[in-house]
Amino acid sequence: MPEDRKFDGRRAVLKKAAGISAAIAAAGMIAIRAAEAAGVSKASVHYQDKPKGGHQCSGCALFVPGSSATANGTCKAVAGSISPHGWCMLWTAKAA
Ligand code: SF4
Repeated sequence: MPEDRKFDGRRAVLKKAAGISAAIAAAGMIAIRAAEAAGVSKASVHYQDKPKGGHQCSGCALFVPGSSATANGTCKAVAGSISPHGWCMLWTAKAA
């Protein structure tokens, strides 16, 4: 077999291996993001739709605001729609 053909064959194998590795890495990232997006259940962190002890979701570092100050948003840790006036046991003060 001519040397050029061997080189092309090796290059094709390496390209295929690189493609497979990239696909596996991408699938892993998608799975991790899906798990993060899902979050833990409200019940598991004792979520409630009202403040507790002067703390509420709008003052939590994990809160992702909705379209307005009064609209429900989401949470980086808890699944589902989250009231800015809610609270759960994961409450963490926003950085000053
Ligand atoms: S972690 Fe709890 S308190 Fe903080 S935003 Fe999410 S649901 Fe609200």
